[in-house]
Amino acid sequence: GIVVLGGINMDLVTYSDRFPSPGETVVGHRFLTYAGGKGANQAVAAARMGGRTSMVGQVGGDLFGPQLLDGLREAGVDVSGIAIDGGETSGIAVIGVDGSAQNRIVQVLGANSTCGAAQAEAVASALTDASTLMLQLEVPIEVSLASARKANAMGKTVILDPGPVRPIPEELIELADVITPNETEAAALVGFPVDGHGAAERAAEELLRRGARTAIIKLGSQGAIFATGWQGDTSTAFPVEAVDTVAAGDAFNGALAVCLAEGRSLERAVMLACAAGALAVTTTGAQDSMPTRAEVVAFLGR
Ligand code: ADP
Repeated sequence: GIVVLGGINMDLVTYSDRFPSPGETVVGHRFLTYAGGKGANQAVAAARMGGRTSMVGQVGGDLFGPQLLDGLREAGVDVSGIAIDGGETSGIAVIGVDGSAQNRIVQVLGANSTCGAAQAEAVASALTDASTLMLQLEVPIEVSLASARKANAMGKTVILDPGPVRPIPEELIELADVITPNETEAAALVGFPVDGHGAAERAAEELLRRGARTAIIKLGSQGAIFATGWQGDTSTAFPVEAVDTVAAGDAFNGALAVCLAEGRSLERAVMLACAAGALAVTTTGAQDSMPTRAEVVAFLGR
């Protein structure tokens, strides 16, 4: 089984022809809510890929809390490790989109930012019955670090998705059995630009040198490269018509975790993950766009 520790968010999106100036009100023509958060997205992705998945994190005492929990439950995620912080709101992002598809985003971390020792304990207890811990960087770093230490001591596989970009302690890289940055995140970690295969290979080598056992760099429409101490290769992207690239990386990670937990080779796992990422960009939304196992298998067999 798979345990995901991470962020749970609701995105509130308004669509208007233009953005209001300070003090002004404009009338929009559409409003949509999307369940997101990298942690929750990855949990849904793993569950849809057929992994027995439980999520650890926090929602707030507002109306979004139960809605976010319901969405996860419907996807088949065990939510018993998600606490409600009644003194906080759920994590939200208020997103304005204008007529030229520009966006302006205000994010409030809410209950994600008050995750603490209780969540690290919930991770440890969920891991007794699981093989893999998935982490991202949307809950306080100390909680991720404590959870990764525990997972490591228990002999479990730690998969670290180092996004969104923020400084992390070297120890977290050392605790990662697998680290999966995209190009932007990889550049922030290694301190040189990462665009394309050559630079990505150098970044992967640097991350191995710094203690990660496997490094995978996600390259958007160019697929992904992966490297371990003894093996490195490229997994070419599957050509698709990109509609919305939101959460492609989360679909990738969910599929990767499930395939590795099933004991598949790294090469095969990365290929299935690339297929899941490609499928995710063909639909809009975050959690809604996570492909099922059947969809990934059908896509590969086409
Ligand atoms: P993130 O969403 O974290 O920025 P990427 O954009 O690199 O990550 O996407 C994750 C994975 O999804 C990629 O490694 C690739 O396999 C797949 N993917 C993303 N965008 C496309 C695309 N336009 N066409 C095909 N595959 C894609």
